[in-house]
Amino acid sequence: AHVSKSSPPTWTTRTEPEDGEHTVINLDHGDPTMFERFWQKMGDKCEIVIPGWQSMSYFSDVRNLCWFLEPEFAKQITRLHKLVGNAITEDRHIVVGTGSTQLFQAALYALSPPDASEPMSVVSAVPYYSSYPSVTNYLKSGLYKWAGDASSFNSDEPFIELVTSPNNPDGFMRLPVVNRSGGMVVHDLAYYWPMYTAITSPADHDIMLFTVSKSTGHAGIRIGWALVKDKEVAKKMTEFIVLNTIGVSKDSQLRAAKILGAVSDSCHHLGNPDDDESLFEYGRHLMAERWKRLRSAVKQSRLFSLPDFPSEFCNYVGGITETQPAFAWLKCEGGIEDCESFLRGHKILTRSGKHSGASTKYVRVSMLDRHETFDLFIERLSSIR
Ligand code: PMP
Repeated sequence: AHVSKSSPPTWTTRTEPEDGEHTVINLDHGDPTMFERFWQKMGDKCEIVIPGWQSMSYFSDVRNLCWFLEPEFAKQITRLHKLVGNAITEDRHIVVGTGSTQLFQAALYALSPPDASEPMSVVSAVPYYSSYPSVTNYLKSGLYKWAGDASSFNSDEPFIELVTSPNNPDGFMRLPVVNRSGGMVVHDLAYYWPMYTAITSPADHDIMLFTVSKSTGHAGIRIGWALVKDKEVAKKMTEFIVLNTIGVSKDSQLRAAKILGAVSDSCHHLGNPDDDESLFEYGRHLMAERWKRLRSAVKQSRLFSLPDFPSEFCNYVGGITETQPAFAWLKCEGGIEDCESFLRGHKILTRSGKHSGASTKYVRVSMLDRHETFDLFIERLSSIR
């Protein structure tokens, strides 16, 4: 592994845990490999066989507005949301995407008027998900443009606000912050699952984005879904995906259907807090343990601080639960101005707060990596004085 000084963050280096104290620990990206052990324990429950003649047509269901959506995948999405209680699915159109990254772009396309004289402003409150600015701007679209921090947005023009809840990078639950009409909101709910936060009510917004990447950990199959209230918006999002990729891999959708089905099946012992056969219980316990260890290391070092979160009643668990986000929003104290460089000096790669529009005193640290990597990270962090 090598240490990259370039920004934006690299996707190429991975932690190689064999060589002890010289190992570069890469917690820059949010690769959800911590779920690997859970899925190993599930054995063949998610195996599927796809014969050569299957998945050949472009079409999945010509009666559906989103005609490349596999009906079995749609069924399992609805089933899982009902079981977890994290989103309303009634009277919603489901649009499938190649990750929620494609759906986010489909939403921008659908919400921007095609004939406006100026591109639509896209905003999100600092600290925002670091991909939003680059994904919004990379094609220099005439339809929409990145306009930065939603908290200081004061133009009279129409706008699109991205609300990530729980938020990446800092883990807090969020509401829109631009307090006026004339705006449209896209809710990115990638982390609204019981292992990360209390499920306080079923989300009921116009456009809600979800992904298997953070719910089951299967980032590599590249599948996300949008729950969309308005038929015309769902149609335009579908149109974007047709123009962009003429649909979404059926093989991936069939696999995602099988995996979501296995997650729902795994929740049948609901209410038994010791039941690690359920993905959400397993995830909750693992995240709780990781956060406990991280907080203890941070307390010991006195060089860093972490946000405090409220405990809330989780309808899914049926009790008060802790907030234990997928990322740690770590702040360097004691006059260290550039936390990313400081940690890089200790061979820990993280993502600087500057990519989220925030101070370089902050970094985002992935909490979702493999066990060995997380162990090394805690060990390394504890030794920094
Ligand atoms: N939204 C947020 C807030 C995310 O953190 C991520 C993944 N880092 C995504 C979207 C992208 O997810 P996907 O893998 O489905 O494209």
